[in-house]
Order: sequence, then structure tokens, then C-alpha cells
Amino acid sequence: MAFTLYNTLGRELQTFEPITPGQVGFYGCGPTVYNYAHIGNLRAYVLHDLLVKTLKRRGFRVNYVMNITDVGHLSGDNDSGDDKMVKSAEERGKGVLEIADFYSQAFFNDTRRLNIDPPTVICKATDHIGDMIDLIRRIADRGFTYSAGGNLYFDVSRFPGYGELALIRPEELRAGARLGVGVDKNKRNPQDFVLWFTKSKFENQALVWDSPWGRGYPGWHIECSAMSIKYLGEQFDIHAGGIDHIPIHHTNEIAQSEAATGLHPWVRYWIHNEFIVMDKGKMSKSAGGFLTLQALTEAGYDPLDYRYFLLGGHYRSQLQFSFDALEGARNARRSLLEKIRSLADKAAGAGDGSFEGKAWEYRGAFDTALDEDLSTPKALAGLWTLLRDPALPPGDALAVAFDMDRVLGLGLEKGIEGKAEEDPEEVREIEALITERKEAKKRKDFATADRIRDTLKCRGIMLEDGPTGTLWRRE
Ligand code: AMP
Ligand code: ZN
Repeated sequence: MAFTLYNTLGRELQTFEPITPGQVGFYGCGPTVYNYAHIGNLRAYVLHDLLVKTLKRRGFRVNYVMNITDVGHLSGDNDSGDDKMVKSAEERGKGVLEIADFYSQAFFNDTRRLNIDPPTVICKATDHIGDMIDLIRRIADRGFTYSAGGNLYFDVSRFPGYGELALIRPEELRAGARLGVGVDKNKRNPQDFVLWFTKSKFENQALVWDSPWGRGYPGWHIECSAMSIKYLGEQFDIHAGGIDHIPIHHTNEIAQSEAATGLHPWVRYWIHNEFIVMDKGKMSKSAGGFLTLQALTEAGYDPLDYRYFLLGGHYRSQLQFSFDALEGARNARRSLLEKIRSLADKAAGAGDGSFEGKAWEYRGAFDTALDEDLSTPKALAGLWTLLRDPALPPGDALAVAFDMDRVLGLGLEKGIEGKAEEDPEEVREIEALITERKEAKKRKDFATADRIRDTLKCRGIMLEDGPTGTLWRRE
């Protein structure tokens, strides 16, 4: 069976065919690092991971690019409200970049604990202002912009097909029904959006850059167009994000990218995950009162229990989070691990990784489930059926289960080694040491910084300094 994905652009299941055979260019909108990621946000990245792992399993080479938003994201996607980064920095009495650094590191610690593989490219918005300015210049040269009140706007009326992704009808466009009319008096059409802010919005903006339109900072949407084009080319295969991004952010990304290049379609497949909701409704970072992965671990859960919970629902279905549901996922994952350990005892070890006969059928059914728009509930059910089949030699069942887990990422092999689940107390301690090392480096106390690195190394904890901070992993 061919690999199919539900494409928001067209609202149908489509057979996946990359632009270049054997290679996939994939861009996933990354976090805005003004606060911890909440467990709803993490659903988006588990989906990206699942997609990448599935594509790799099918033999594709995947170039997965993720941005880090550290400038320009206002609390309203339509240019309204406060600057999220600046507000967070002010509230915490820190610099914007310091805040960005801290929450990027926290984000990648969360994704690592969820068995999410790191993207091929992680790119920060503030490192790509020049690319954004270049792209805006192309958009302006092709006549899609106007200046008003100190800002440079994208004029949606010049772009035929605006709103195709979100199924916005032309009459809605004129009425501006969805997006709140009157937010910004400078806009000619309610859907017009800012490409470059200068003096208009925040007088004391912390981060500003020179540009042909004056000293200022970019609108939020342009970073994703600029960075995806830079790393994946002017047309690429897949773009993903949560469903909240369909009406504004992704709609505007398409308009400005295609306006700049004149190429259509900019992206072939648009993949959107539904929301995680709480009893009280939507979870949101800006509204506060949300759950983090750390909160789940402090309540005694393993991050992979949450991954199991997510896989139990299809990514296009809304999932209601509750601790009862998480408890169910934990129990199921524990039974899974017990089953794996008992098979390993019977097989006297992990087996040699080979399998034959019926085991191949289970593997085939699992792949078919993934081929059907990443149907993880079916894939999980397939894993259970495999493990419960008494006719299957234990070594074969084990080998196929581990093979499936390369996509599911539930830590089954680790489970068989009897390794303890991550201890939240220890994680906190490691992260405190990393912060201490960072502070030591800042005051040029390299002896202390090296000592901390060596101490952690002795405990089998390896540090990797990257553009988004320091990540850690077990040796
Ligand atoms: P942000 O850091 O706010 O830019 O969001 C990161 C990702 O999380 C985006 O892809 C959002 O669409 C997605 N997202 C935000 N809230 C939720 C939620 N409650 N459930 C699932 N995904 C979400
Ligand atoms: Zn984006």
C-alpha cells in the first residue's frame, strides 16, 4: 500500500509523492520559547517525530527543519496583543535572549524525554533576520506590499487564492469575519499582515534591526517562510503544525512565500494535528494554567506514558487529557513492558533480531496502519495482537515488537534491559548542574564549567552544546 497523508490543502487523503524521489523536505513550526511547552504543544512534536520515523522506515532521506521563535510572535496571530517574548522577559526580569535560551533548553529536554529525535536543522529566528529581510524585499519588489503607520504590510488583495488552505471564501475576506476587524487601523484589508514593524507597535522593543523599511523587527509569519526556503528550497514536500495555524499563520506563510517566488504550490502536503483539550477546554500557553511534561513526571508518570497516551488517539482527533486517561496509558505501557520482559525470558535474551513466517504478517499490518495517514491506534493494536499470539516464537515476537518500536518510540528495548524509568529528581539535579555550568562559563570560570561537565560524564551523562543551549543524554 502507498503511504497516504491527509492533506489540509484539499481536505483529502493523498498518496505521498515527494518532489525528489527518495528525499523529503519537511518543515515543522517550532516552539515560541517564552515559556515551557505545554503538553498540547508536545503533541505537535510527537506527530512530527512519528512522521519522520515513518518516512525513514519507508526508506526516505528526511531533511526535517524546525524553527525556534525568539522574536516577533504577538499574543494574537493577527498582529494584535503583546510581544510574547518581551512580556515574558519583563515579567521574569531577564533579557529576551536569556529567556529564549532557557526555554529552548527546557523544550529540547522535554522532546528528548519523549523519545523525539532531534530535527536535522534547528534554526532560531534571530539568527535569520537577514534572510527575512531578503525575502520581504522580494515580496515588495513584486508589488505585494504597502507601508502604513511605520509598518510594512502584505496586501492580501494582490494575492489571488489567498485563504485556500483555510477555505476562506472571498466574501468572508471582504467582511473580515474571522479575524477581528479594526484591530489595526493601518490595514487596508482585515487579513493584511505585518511583514516588518518599525516604530508603530512597541516603542521599547528590546530587539531591533536595521532594514530598508526602517529600524525594527519582523512580523511573526515571515520567519517560517524565510527559514524553510533557506534550508529546503523554494518548493518542498511537507509542512506541519497544529490546527490553530491553518487560518492565519500558515495561510499567511503560503501567501508571502508564493508572492516572493511566483511558484505554486509552495508546499505540497499540509499536515495539522488536532488539539489536546483539558476538562475546561483549550490549553494555551498565554492563558496560563497549563500542564507541562515536568508536571506529569512530578506526579509520578514517565514521559513515555504521555507518548503512549498520544499514540492511542489519531493525530487528527481532538484528545481530552485527564489524569485518569494518563493512568490508563501508564498501566497499558507497564503491561507492555511486562509482556516484553516475559517474552525475553522465554526467548533467553533479546533474540537475534530476525523473524520469519507469521511475524512478517504482523509487521506488514503495522506498516499498513502507518500508511493510512499514520493511524497509531491501529498500529498500537497491532503490537498488542502480536504480543498476545501464543503461536509466535517469543524471539520472533520480540524482534517485531522492537522493530515496531523504532517508530512508536515507547522505550521497549530499554524496558527489557530493566533500566529504571527516568527519575524526575535526578533530571532536576542534572538540569541544575547544567545551569550552574552555563553561569560559570558566563563569568569565564572555565575550571568550574569543566568540572561540572566531567562530574556528569563520570555519571554517564554527556553534554552537547548547541545553538539552542546544552542538551544532555545518557552515554
Ligand atoms: P507555539 O509554541 O505556541 O508556537 O505552539 C507550538 C505548537 O503547538 C504549534 O504547532 C501549535 O499549533 C501547537 N499547539 C498549541 N496548542 C496546542 C494544543 N492545545 N494541542 C495541540 N497542539 C497545540
Ligand atoms: Zn510557522
